Amino acid sequence: MQPAVLNSTAQSTKIISPLIDPFGRKMDYLRLAITDRCNLRCQYCMPAEGIPLKSHDTILRFEEMERLIRIFTNLGVKKIRLTGGEPFVRKGSLEFLKKINEIEALQSINITTNAVLIDDVLDHLRKLKIGSLNISIDSLQKERFAQITRRDDFDVVWANIQKAVKLNLTVKLNTVVLAGINDDEIKDFCFLAKEWPIEVRFIEQMPFSGGPPEEKILSADQIIGRIKNSFPNLVENQLPNSTARLFSQVDFMGKIGVIAGYSRTFCSSCNRLRITPDGQLKTCLYDQSAGNLKSLLRQGLSDLEIEKAIKQAVNNRAEDGFESERRTNRLYNLSMAQIGG
Ligand code: SAM
Ligand code: SF4
Repeated sequence: MQPAVLNSTAQSTKIISPLIDPFGRKMDYLRLAITDRCNLRCQYCMPAEGIPLKSHDTILRFEEMERLIRIFTNLGVKKIRLTGGEPFVRKGSLEFLKKINEIEALQSINITTNAVLIDDVLDHLRKLKIGSLNISIDSLQKERFAQITRRDDFDVVWANIQKAVKLNLTVKLNTVVLAGINDDEIKDFCFLAKEWPIEVRFIEQMPFSGGPPEEKILSADQIIGRIKNSFPNLVENQLPNSTARLFSQVDFMGKIGVIAGYSRTFCSSCNRLRITPDGQLKTCLYDQSAGNLKSLLRQGLSDLEIEKAIKQAVNNRAEDGFESERRTNRLYNLSMAQIGG
């Protein structure tokens, strides 16, 4: 593959050397977990007492993250998602967003949040190149929301979702389908996608709860079956590189997505790289680590040396999430807050 030339308004012309894995997948999407801390305790993500937190000096500093983002854009990354833990519990996250908004090569900055702390942030987001604001909400019922998240924040989350929609931000709702807990609300969530210009995404539960894996999960196929029972006229429209299978119909303002995070049916087109709060590079959600970027930064390596290490990690990328899982030995007691989702 020839390096592509990116025309820039800056004086110099930048040579981009894209990241292509051994299976021909171009890696141009980076998900950065900016903290492992969170103000909620979602049952499927972490235990009631929380997870053992990393000390501040083992978490990447914002300057380090900005440098890494610039390095990744030199390698063809165009889209970034900030996640966590909860990104907005980290002090300075809005300033960080504004700072990385200046990186020209980044085409879109996306965010995944539980929306508890975003009331004051939303107006600022309108001025940034935000692609989508993904808000996690697993129940439309106040008491059940409190049962799932172990916190009583439904009202503020619901108000912030409505505010974000009114501000015309591109809103996607993330709902983890929990067998016997919230699966009776699938239809109610679908109605939101009918009435509002948002994407409602049902996520298969994955074994990253910080504890033993759940025995009974609803698969993406089962979730799609439930959706189609209620809305038989839905038509599937696939987008390239989308992890979600997407459905809509003419009288819907929005879309419905189903994400097979556990069945892993989308690996063949996966373009995602991840950086954990403590600076581990992951080339797959199911790998342990493909390299420690924080230690490379702190050892004083140059950008070129770090680029080389990233390329090596991508060259060693597994074909799919099952292969990644086979290569690792201790994955399932991790919390999604340590990985970034
Ligand atoms: N705190 C933010 C939030 O909840 O949106 C961002 C971090 S959270 C780890 C990112 C996404 O991962 C959320 O949509 C959450 O629902 C999802 N998630 C967490 N644990 C999961 C699990 N065990 N299986 C599937 N999705 C999970
Ligand atoms: Fe926190 Fe998000 Fe995990 Fe819920 S899913 S505990 S909000 S990190």
